[in-house]
Amino acid sequence: MKEKPVYSVVAPIYNEEGNIDLLYKRMVTVMDSTGEPWELILVNDGSRDRSPEMINELAAREPRIKVVHFARNFGHQTAVTAGIDHAAGEAVILIDADLQDPPELILDMIERWKAGFQVVYAVREKRIGESWFKLFTAKLFYRVIYRITDVDIPVDTGDFRLMDRKVVDVLVRMREHNRFIRGMTSWAGFRQTGVTYVREARHSGETKYPLSKMVRFAMDAITSFSYFPLQIMVYVSGALGLLALLAIPLVAVLRLMLGEGFFGGQATTIVLLLLMSSFQLFFLFILGQYVARTYDETRNRPLYVIADKRGFEDAAAASPPIDEAAPIPEGVSDGRQPFG
Ligand code: UDP
Ligand code: MG
Repeated sequence: MKEKPVYSVVAPIYNEEGNIDLLYKRMVTVMDSTGEPWELILVNDGSRDRSPEMINELAAREPRIKVVHFARNFGHQTAVTAGIDHAAGEAVILIDADLQDPPELILDMIERWKAGFQVVYAVREKRIGESWFKLFTAKLFYRVIYRITDVDIPVDTGDFRLMDRKVVDVLVRMREHNRFIRGMTSWAGFRQTGVTYVREARHSGETKYPLSKMVRFAMDAITSFSYFPLQIMVYVSGALGLLALLAIPLVAVLRLMLGEGFFGGQATTIVLLLLMSSFQLFFLFILGQYVARTYDETRNRPLYVIADKRGFEDAAAASPPIDEAAPIPEGVSDGRQPFG
């Protein structure tokens, strides 16, 4: 029987072959200095480079390293979720594998945790080595989210954080498909605090978040925690209605005074029609975003599919390859179809 870890560190891995060795080295130094048992859970999110073999090798020679291999790429937030589902520690630490989040900061987080906080998130004071576009969109994103969501999501914080077992147990119960983990942690509540750090450049490789993934991520974040985009429709509709109410008598009077030619011609009508159609389609799109996500939930597919696991106790390794954390009540069919 292995010693039960106090700390579980979770790192998602998507084509990170250039970072794994250094991540492991720095993690061992930091975590050993706590003097308490720990585990490092590496979730391979369908990597196509040498990452899978590298982490298997690590798991083979180091019992504190555990590995989960996804059957394909499921995305960063899902990989983190699988790590959380598999964590056994009293405190779970989420960290990126590219060393943009310095492992040394974990010691500060642990200190705050021992002082009685259940969530310690890392606030980026400064970011080094990122494009102005990423800096600008990130800054904008965090501020928009902060303003329009119903939970207090601290600005400039990523997923780099420590969470107490109490919070982890709440997250494990939240099986929503479009996941915004930092929002879900804020939603859970408890005593939360931040520690600041300077976000370094990536140690090796390129960002795995192209613009398309960033947009999708932002949409997930907003739709998961805010109805604001739906509510602005009523304001726009009110404003346009008011405009019409004022315009009708105004146009009538002007016509009487200036004659038939006033406001004649199709051009005005066509321009207005295009403008209004654009408005309407835009709001239809927003509505569609919520409807599609509702559909995602109703299908009730598992969040991820596991191809292989290394380093866990036998019982866990033999379990089915879907997210076990969502138990199906006995005697109830979950209606899951193959390829459904
Ligand atoms: N990642 C992942 N699956 C993905 C994309 C990213 O597991 O589909 C991992 C990646 O390996 C890294 C972390 O998520 O450990 C953060 O990704 P990245 O550094 O590319 O994001 P950025 O820091 O540029 O926002
Ligand atoms: Mg990164």
